[in-house]
Amino acid sequence: MEYSDVFHRENEGSDMVTKETYNFKDKGDRNLTLRPEGTAGVIRSFIENKLYAQNDLTKLFYIGPNFRYERPQKGRFRQFMQFGVEALGTNNPYLDAEVLALAYETIRGLGLKGVVVKINSLGNDASKAAYKEALYNYLLPYKDQLSEDSQVRLEKNPLRILDSKVPVDKEITKNAPLPLEYLDEESRNSFETITRLLDQAKIPYALDRKLVRGLDYYSHIVFEIQAEIEGFGSQNALGGGGRYDNLVSELGGPKTPGIGFAFGMERLLNALEIEGRELAPEPSLDAFFVTFDEKSKDLAFNLQNELRVHGFSSDLNYTNKNFKSQLKEALNHRAKFLVIIGENEVNEGVVNLKNTSTEEQIKIRKEELVNKLKELL
Ligand code: AMP
Repeated sequence: MEYSDVFHRENEGSDMVTKETYNFKDKGDRNLTLRPEGTAGVIRSFIENKLYAQNDLTKLFYIGPNFRYERPQKGRFRQFMQFGVEALGTNNPYLDAEVLALAYETIRGLGLKGVVVKINSLGNDASKAAYKEALYNYLLPYKDQLSEDSQVRLEKNPLRILDSKVPVDKEITKNAPLPLEYLDEESRNSFETITRLLDQAKIPYALDRKLVRGLDYYSHIVFEIQAEIEGFGSQNALGGGGRYDNLVSELGGPKTPGIGFAFGMERLLNALEIEGRELAPEPSLDAFFVTFDEKSKDLAFNLQNELRVHGFSSDLNYTNKNFKSQLKEALNHRAKFLVIIGENEVNEGVVNLKNTSTEEQIKIRKEELVNKLKELL
């Protein structure tokens, strides 16, 4: 949770702030909010810890639950998991392309196929303000015909009406002015650099001229990664993000431009399931110690510490199970090697090292274990 001010700022008109958060008071009568998204809290922490003073460019990631007081439906829950990244310190379009490439790589790395990257630009403050005014003037005569939500949005955040899913709003915005038409030269150049870099990196994307995204702190590039998978449902945004050049100063820090994105885990898992993709198996253990008595356990304990110091993962069992059940445990952990130590091995100062996939077994001096594993792994 955060203090409510982190999300509820003046001049904010996003839906999230006006109605979609869980707000309550603590015993000290302070207003708190369960975080509905990751970015604002990360920025709060960025400012509080003065990270801006440490590096020119700060790259952060987060993962955790978020809470929104929304109407639950398929793909939309009141508690959901997000992971995301933020990069703060420059508004150089190369960074935008880098962050977008990372978002795309996330999807590609999971092996998802039915996915499109949609991008749009809202431009810098001046372009965005000019556009906002044009859109407002266009929408004003239709005010009474807009959906109830959009009537409220018109005064607070008219941009949000552009990607409303309500049929009447869609009809009204059919011929509305578009953000790209209002980009000034600086904003246009920045957007062109990003698309050129995406082309170079062979990252497929589609221009979505009506994409604005829910939060109104965005400027310049906004993007969304959408599922186009049959049976996925209407909540098809797997993730999204954009540039926010005023958020740090709005939250009380020095003016610092930033860009980030977030993915929703439940929707990613749903996409993986529909496409029949298996997630990568749990990481395996480098070594599992098989021991038979106190003395062999003592030696295994010391060797295990040594392995961990050298960055290997290992485990050993603490009960005196027979060989078969220890082997089973090792295989459950998907151990790559067994280190088998019995009474004779302790006396001779050696260990048996068994490769679980080839079944090959060698006897080595206990001092050699670290180097041998380095060589074999
Ligand atoms: P947003 O912060 O609204 O841009 O959301 C980023 C991503 O979080 C979305 O693309 C979804 O994958 C996920 N997400 C947002 N809201 C919800 C929700 N209520 N339930 C499940 N996933 C959500």
